[in-house]
Amino acid sequence: MTYDNNNVFAKILRKELSSKIVFENEHVLCFEDISRSAKIHWLVIPKKPYTSFDDFMSKASEEEIANFFKSITQITKENNIDKYGYRLVTNNGASSGQSVFHFHVHILSGQTLGGLHGAISEN
Ligand code: AMP
Repeated sequence: MTYDNNNVFAKILRKELSSKIVFENEHVLCFEDISRSAKIHWLVIPKKPYTSFDDFMSKASEEEIANFFKSITQITKENNIDKYGYRLVTNNGASSGQSVFHFHVHILSGQTLGGLHGAISEN
């Protein structure tokens, strides 16, 4: 899949669209999801253009990969949800529910979360 420079997260990174920023460093931006699925629902994205988790893991440098996942830990600690508990989700591909094709990890927290629904279907 070719990276679309006009996807919504690319626009957020270029500040063409506003977002509520939670955390930012050289490699990573974290902002609030516009349509919350939990009391806390944030998205963590790399600043470079990767379409998905697979794309990120195959093309990003070791430094970017390490920084990305360490940033998630830093975000959870700085916002005191590390001890409360949180869920990380990434959808990889349209069939998994990915709708924005710039790699992102959802952080869900702030409440007791339900089970993982919809993982098994008749098809
Ligand atoms: P996914 O379905 O895993 O690709 O997740 C995409 C997420 O992006 C969804 O949870 C959307 O609510 C969220 N989203 C879409 N547009 C925006 C936006 N402008 N600002 C923040 N979050 C957004």
